[in-house]
Amino acid sequence: MSPQRHFLVLTFPLQGHIAPALRLARRLLAAAPDALVTFSTTEAAHRRMFPAEPDGGVDDCRLELLPFSDGTDAGYDRSSTDPAAFTDYMASFQAAGARSVGELVDALAARGRPVTRVVYTMLLPWAADVAREKGLPSALYWIQPAAVLAVYYHYFHGYAAVVADHRHDPSFVVRFPGLPPQAVRDLPSFITDSTDPSEFFHSVYTTVRDLFESLDRESPRATVLVNTCQELEEGALAAVRAYDALPIGPVLPSGDEAGLFKQDSAKYMEWLDAKPVDSVVYVAFGSLTGMAREQLDELLLGLEESGRPYLFIVRKDIKAELADAVETDAWPKNGVVVEWCDQVRVLSHAAVGCFVTHCGWNSVMESMACGVPMVCVPQMSDQRMNAWLVEFEWRVGARAEVGGDGVLRAVEVRQRLEEVTQDGEAGAGGARGTASEWKRVVAEALGKDGSSDRNLRAFVEGIISSVSL
Ligand code: UDP
Repeated sequence: MSPQRHFLVLTFPLQGHIAPALRLARRLLAAAPDALVTFSTTEAAHRRMFPAEPDGGVDDCRLELLPFSDGTDAGYDRSSTDPAAFTDYMASFQAAGARSVGELVDALAARGRPVTRVVYTMLLPWAADVAREKGLPSALYWIQPAAVLAVYYHYFHGYAAVVADHRHDPSFVVRFPGLPPQAVRDLPSFITDSTDPSEFFHSVYTTVRDLFESLDRESPRATVLVNTCQELEEGALAAVRAYDALPIGPVLPSGDEAGLFKQDSAKYMEWLDAKPVDSVVYVAFGSLTGMAREQLDELLLGLEESGRPYLFIVRKDIKAELADAVETDAWPKNGVVVEWCDQVRVLSHAAVGCFVTHCGWNSVMESMACGVPMVCVPQMSDQRMNAWLVEFEWRVGARAEVGGDGVLRAVEVRQRLEEVTQDGEAGAGGARGTASEWKRVVAEALGKDGSSDRNLRAFVEGIISSVSL
């Protein structure tokens, strides 16, 4: 008799990685009612997420929560601006992580709960090697768009030189096989701004490079679950035929969800309840993006001038940094500022008519799933390509341009908001109407027998090759 299916889901300890990993863990359980899942991130992140069970616990009898070690007690100190500290953390994460996950796989087997498949998010290039050493199959869980997977794939298979030669020329157009022409300014920032060892995120660049090398070692082909759906990214998925790439998303939360941040009081929901349909601008820049005082003031001014009510997320760490210069209670006239909200609940609220976003992939997918058009303010990593997809592929938003000094001015905020919230043909191709159409498409993909639902079931049944893309 073959052992009970047991997926070990491993993730890097960032909110934007943890959230889709935990959502996938729950979807795996739903797709395979007899399967087990172990969700595992670093000890420090685990303690923040599950303070009641700091050493590990059981969410329900089929989902176990067990941390692995990154070689540190407290994780990476995000307040540090020392590039060497970040590089050291990444080195420790890779070495200790690989060791600790190997031990975790052995420990689970020893207590009669053997892992049958390892699933890992993108900054763990060693996970496939650990799995292979233990005789287990693995799958990369790609938590960015298929378009970015395809760009990285081609970059590391013949296109690095052309990008390197033009990395300081934002308007230079690169033609990757199977993808629309892509300007350098829209490419993932790690291949344009981090390839030199002196650059801050160089260790992320080398980690991504190691990941793509590790995928090449998979035989006969690497399996890659992609947090997108077929209908959103047909062309990009076809551009990565070197892998068995399965679009299984966009994954969404099922009820309350543990994370690294504590929610503000839920008063903002009552505030939203009192607002007219589609009137509110929701503004949030994810879990990592910082914000200078000048930028915050320009955003608030632009929002005030738009005349629309707004819900603005300013995280606690940003507030703390600005503390001496800011009296937060004095800011909003027409809006409310909170530290952290239940974003999917907010985007699902009928009063929310537009999302001003940094275009983290989770935020973009959540907005697409909720049918909310976007004003894009991308910064780094995949965000610039995500903004490009929003504006040009799906036509559900507009990118706001920062000035030469890197600051997004109030007038630009106001104009892009007007453009995106206009109804009908004139406004960005009618972004709101297009967004509702995509919402329906995404719901169908996720629903019973939709494309993502079928792909996930094929994955859990181990019959990937029968999935036709
Ligand atoms: N998020 C949230 N509440 C907030 C702000 C963000 O729940 O107030 C969540 C959001 O729903 C998303 C995640 O944080 O799932 C951010 O991930 P994303 O990929 O958008 O950006 P990152 O934080 O990785 O830059």
